[in-house]
Amino acid sequence: MNRPQTLAKLKGVLTDKLNRLTNVTNPESRLTDPHAFRELSMAFRHIGQGKYGTCIECGNNISIARLSIKPEAVRCIKCQKQFENMITN
Ligand SMILES: [Zn+2]
Repeated sequence: MNRPQTLAKLKGVLTDKLNRLTNVTNPESRLTDPHAFRELSMAFRHIGQGKYGTCIECGNNISIARLSIKPEAVRCIKCQKQFENMITN
């Protein structure tokens, strides 16, 4: 599978995840993990802008290996580390 095909597949995974989180029959589900919900909706917005798979900080491609593990990733590994250092310090 090439990158666009893999990204298309991951978008489907992401959409399913978000649909489950925003399931109206279980409105509390989004409150159980607000952080996960925020990440998912950010990634989802990215899809709408046609930017899915690129880092919101540096604009580089996020590796497929990373996206396969974490489809809602909106930062490359380098920027994610910087971001985490920033919020934990
Ligand atoms: Zn980056």
